[in-house]
Amino acid sequence: MQRATRLTTLPILFDTLGLDDLPTDEQAMIARIDACLPQTQCGLCEHPDGCLPYASAIVMDNEPYNKCVPGGQPVTDAIRQILLDDNKVDNDEEPLTAAPSQWPVDPSTHRPTEVRAVIREDECIGCTKCIPACPVDAIVGTGKHMHTIFTDLCTGCELCIAPCPVDCIDLVAIDRQPTPTERVQEQNDLRQRYHTHLNRVAAQLADTRNAKPVISMVEAKLNNAATRTLDISEADAKNTIAAATLRSKIKKLQKQLSVRPNPKKQDELSALQTELAKLTQSQ
Ligand code: SF4
Ligand code: SF4
Ligand code: SF4
Repeated sequence: MQRATRLTTLPILFDTLGLDDLPTDEQAMIARIDACLPQTQCGLCEHPDGCLPYASAIVMDNEPYNKCVPGGQPVTDAIRQILLDDNKVDNDEEPLTAAPSQWPVDPSTHRPTEVRAVIREDECIGCTKCIPACPVDAIVGTGKHMHTIFTDLCTGCELCIAPCPVDCIDLVAIDRQPTPTERVQEQNDLRQRYHTHLNRVAAQLADTRNAKPVISMVEAKLNNAATRTLDISEADAKNTIAAATLRSKIKKLQKQLSVRPNPKKQDELSALQTELAKLTQSQ
């Protein structure tokens, strides 16, 4: 089976998945599943690092294939078909129902209604906290100045809502019916934007020449980045990236738990917080 070439150029933050060491047929299956996923990187599938880790877990860890909340039933069914084709699921097995969304199903797409984030700009205090939360770099603005969202780029992942201290970001339902070709193109663009985002964060964190990096570079310092100057040695960069990943996962889990309690996620959150505390103590 043909190797999915894009798996060879993954961002550094996906290194722990070890995808390049997998047999090519498993890589190809992960790539095919990832190609079905909406690429909002919202983490609602319980994979805070986004769509690709979920695709990997379906193939490698036999995770249920119905956990992509924004993808709804069409994505669940598409993944089932891939698993059937590769004999990972038996035809006799009852098809799974997609995980429920807080948004109603759109009757035309059969997916949860799509939303986009909009900043009430007159209320924005320019704190910049929303910028590093956005996995597709859809928010622009500088410190002390109002921010705005490129609506065309926004996926409605909701990850910018929780960090905003003045609660000035609204979610607005949108009505659209992209063709299958348009959806694939859009998902490819979003995937690329997310990978670019991750690569840039990692590269900038590791670049000690940046005496005062822009806020989007310092996810590791999400809560106090605006008031601090980073001084990260190359030796510390790896730990800093690991801490950034943990903080990102913690933020996403906190956001998910604020919407819907889940004992398993709560345990996961506690474990991540303990891990982060140990990591930051050793820095
Ligand atoms: S869109 Fe969200 S829920 Fe669906 S696979 Fe991607 S990160 Fe997971
Ligand atoms: S602007 Fe907010 S809702 Fe839109 S993609 Fe970025 S983080 Fe997600
Ligand atoms: S987090 Fe809220 S207040 Fe801060 S820059 Fe973003 S939208 Fe403005």
